[in-house]
Amino acid sequence: MMAVILAGGLGTRLKEYTKEEVPKPMVKINGEPILQYQLKNLKKYGINEIIMVLGYMGNKIKEYFGDGTKFGVTIKYFEETIPLGTAGALYYLGNILQKQFIVVYGDIIFDMDFDRFISFHSKNGAVCSMVIHPNNHPFDSDVIVLDNNNKVTEILEKNQNRDFYYNNCVIAGVFLLDISILEYIKEGKKLDLEKDVVMKMLPTKKVFGYRTTEYLKDMGTPERYLLVQEHISKGIVAHGNLSNRQKAVFLDRDGTINKYCGLVSKPEEMEILEEAYTAIKLLNNSEYLCIVITNQPVIARNLCTIDDLNNIHKKLDYELGVRGVYIDDLYYCPHHPDKGYPEENKLYKVECECRKPKTGLVQKAAEKYNIDLSASYFIGDTTVDVQTGKNSGMKTILLASGEGGKDAKYEAIPDYFAADILEAVKIVIPE
Ligand SMILES: [Mg+2]
Ligand SMILES: [Zn+2]
Repeated sequence: MMAVILAGGLGTRLKEYTKEEVPKPMVKINGEPILQYQLKNLKKYGINEIIMVLGYMGNKIKEYFGDGTKFGVTIKYFEETIPLGTAGALYYLGNILQKQFIVVYGDIIFDMDFDRFISFHSKNGAVCSMVIHPNNHPFDSDVIVLDNNNKVTEILEKNQNRDFYYNNCVIAGVFLLDISILEYIKEGKKLDLEKDVVMKMLPTKKVFGYRTTEYLKDMGTPERYLLVQEHISKGIVAHGNLSNRQKAVFLDRDGTINKYCGLVSKPEEMEILEEAYTAIKLLNNSEYLCIVITNQPVIARNLCTIDDLNNIHKKLDYELGVRGVYIDDLYYCPHHPDKGYPEENKLYKVECECRKPKTGLVQKAAEKYNIDLSASYFIGDTTVDVQTGKNSGMKTILLASGEGGKDAKYEAIPDYFAADILEAVKIVIPE
């Protein structure tokens, strides 16, 4: 596999951290330029044919990396004489590109399992797969809208006024493309990969969003630069690679994150508990992934549609995002086993494998994110949650908030009791 690294971006707001002026991809972290971290990660997955697109002060990059031998890869260079944006240079690479190739922005630090990403792309028969993730500032990031099969239906640009709820699915800057995308790229044009190419493909081509919890961060500001430096030193960046076993805190939704008010069937009824913001922030800054597992029989009972439920979850994502926190992923069961009500949606009135306390959703998350369940926790306000945790081999915490265990459907004894989600998270992550 081959990768094109877009290293032509301008220099930087990070001048205070570099003695001389350098292009942003050459900014050093713990003695190595960003590009070198990228090469190491790509090479680990056999992606060792590299094309670097150069612009501003490109000769500094060429001097450092040469033909790539020293770094165990081969590097070819394309030097832009006029700025061609993030996609324009691909036109000139047409004869050396392979059928499929990775494109990465040269100014981000990432460490990801490319085997997983590539197999996602193949499985979907995609023409373009974009790596996406939730971050702590979705409101000033480019985000995408996905359908229920992870197909991208829309790109929302960061400068657009968004007066609606949307999921925290931020474009991370790593792409896997099929060579056929070249039909969208014309000679000598400055083109933006997201806006001028991918967005035009959406109506007719298979464009998918690959959601990951792995570390991918840009360093647009000095604060973010310092944070990334710290995360590299502490091994957080490397550990996040999904080839490593992860730990997670699984959270119930109603009565745990949001105020308990029976069945929630419209966004107005989704009211996040104040302590949930603080609790989720603690999780975001910890080694634990934060994954929501929720039974939503509102679908089977026909109290709302899947689109309505998605909107409720968009509100959840949005409100958390405004406060700079996020959940890594959310899984719901739309089913209910008891048939025979006049208003029911028969399609979802089935005995399924995903309704808690069954472990279908937990297993799905564990597989996707390589989670070690024996090192993970389930936190919820019902005995159903406790039983789900037990059935999955996790430690469990029962909350006094929400239903406070009064559902009494199972006799499972939790490992811990806590007043609310914040107290529970503090049991998982002692101060
Ligand atoms: Mg609950
Ligand atoms: Zn189900």
